[in-house]
Amino acid sequence: MNVVKCAVCARPTPEVFAQEHHPVPQAAGGTDMGTVPLCASCHANIHSIATMLQGPRASMAEDTVRTFYANNTAGVQACLKLAGEAARWMTLKKTGQLKPVQAHEDVELIVTVPAAVKRALILLGRDARDPATQKRLGLAGAVRAILIRYVVDKFPALKQEIQASQQQVQKNPEPSRATKQALARESVARKPPQR
Ligand SMILES: [Zn+2]
Repeated sequence: MNVVKCAVCARPTPEVFAQEHHPVPQAAGGTDMGTVPLCASCHANIHSIATMLQGPRASMAEDTVRTFYANNTAGVQACLKLAGEAARWMTLKKTGQLKPVQAHEDVELIVTVPAAVKRALILLGRDARDPATQKRLGLAGAVRAILIRYVVDKFPALKQEIQASQQQVQKNPEPSRATKQALARESVARKPPQR
């Protein structure tokens, strides 16, 4: 069972119960890459406190959080910080300053990639749904997701191949042998030179 740590109360939370909080709302261009894992209780608390901060009971918000998290001072700080940010976003939205972001307003990017890069993108696309691979790739995973989206948009011929490999991953989450070999080569290549 995969367990994540709630970013507010620090309670170990089974991944299936955990919720992803968007510190930058999706309406403001926040993506799934920048989310914070929270237990359901803390997630609800953050949004309740954010609403409270906007109303006549704003001055009671901090005491409410301190009462709930008691001796968990890190929890108090984290909850107040995230709730404060959420409240500021709510204010921007209310005052009409939050402009929806159009995903396809992005600048045009033309790239020519070597065949090896194309092959790597296909292999990575195949493992995009494998949580273990995502965890290992970290930031590179974010770049990969952007690249895959770009490639899928720009090269319809690759779209089918990527979709087919993703369906294959859904059916069989175990990475393919070719992918494992590619990842093994990659980790060897990343090792610092021996002295
Ligand atoms: Zn929590």
